[in-house]
Amino acid sequence: MFFMTNKAAVCQAENGPAYVQLDNASKYFNGNPAVLRLTIGIDKGEFFSLLGPSGCGKTTTLRLIAGLERPDEGAVSIGKEVVASVDTWVSPEKRGIGIVFQDYALFPHMTVAQNVAFGLKGCRREQIRPRVNELLELTSLMGLAGRYPHELSGGQRQRVALARSLAPRPRVILLDEPFSNLDADLREELRRETKRILKEHGATTILVTHDQEEAFSLSDRVGVLQGGALAQLGSPAEIYHRPHSKFVADFVGKADFIDGKVEGGIVHSAFGSFSLNGGPDWGMSRVELMIRPDDVDFVLDAAGQATITEAHFLGASVLYQLRFADGRAIHAIRPSAEPAPVGSKVRVKVDASHIVIFPKELQVPG
Ligand code: ATP
Repeated sequence: MFFMTNKAAVCQAENGPAYVQLDNASKYFNGNPAVLRLTIGIDKGEFFSLLGPSGCGKTTTLRLIAGLERPDEGAVSIGKEVVASVDTWVSPEKRGIGIVFQDYALFPHMTVAQNVAFGLKGCRREQIRPRVNELLELTSLMGLAGRYPHELSGGQRQRVALARSLAPRPRVILLDEPFSNLDADLREELRRETKRILKEHGATTILVTHDQEEAFSLSDRVGVLQGGALAQLGSPAEIYHRPHSKFVADFVGKADFIDGKVEGGIVHSAFGSFSLNGGPDWGMSRVELMIRPDDVDFVLDAAGQATITEAHFLGASVLYQLRFADGRAIHAIRPSAEPAPVGSKVRVKVDASHIVIFPKELQVPG
């Protein structure tokens, strides 16, 4: 599905500002917030992802931008124009938005070329043909122009949907889990292709996904949602290495949390003492240290303090569980070329430069 902008912009390239801004936008269903006071600004040409677990409000946010839902509070702007607020409403077809849904929603009775041309209705014939050819070329579909959707693979259908949504030169492309129906191999290839196509086209893109790897590999920036609100916004590296909360840390990759104590700018833990490097010093306080498996290494050592209790082969790497005598376990990830056997004693090394600390949550007596 896609929405057209005005005719002049559909038929010819449009110059000018195009960005998306949510200002304190909220949407409630039956009194429950699906999106809560969300403020996000997305730059022109940016590839932005909304990431979060099921039910956190990703699709509702996309629908607010598209004009398929009205915000109960706050405002949505596209290209500096307020398109939705308490007293403003611009209908979806006037917002200059293209959408690619999970199921692609192609017209089954139309060929590939007709599907792509659909968004150019009202344009002159001599404008339509070159634009369709341009899109077919961009999406590597030139040889398939006369085929019907049922004669295409899943990946080809996804590219037709992308070409169709780009045809009217939308200001913004919204992608709602567009890779989830594809098998792992194809998904990876299509992600790369999609990013290339959208970047070449200069599109401002907002992707909704619950897959952190997908969000990280595609996006300039990622917004992590939790219960309809923004938990964190930043580059993939910032979100992965500097999560603002345990929720984000846990959601965007494997993390172990161990107890520590901060005293005079040093955090003491079972894995040693580390300087906070100018980070927050909360006086003497109980904290939790987040340690990612890629910051943990080990050497085989019969006198080591931990034992390898699990090893999960992941292809290029192996994820190890390392258990200490007191029952605590942390994880390490290492290249798979020379796997270490389960049962081996190891000496654990932690890369202190990547440790993130969180205030220890209060335990409420049960
Ligand atoms: P998923 O990844 O499962 O698609 P999501 O992050 O996209 O989830 P939303 O679909 O935006 O989440 O839903 C957010 C919340 O709003 C959920 O609790 C959902 O049940 C609720 N919700 C969404 N649409 C409606 C609706 N039309 N009527 C009532 N509740 C709704």
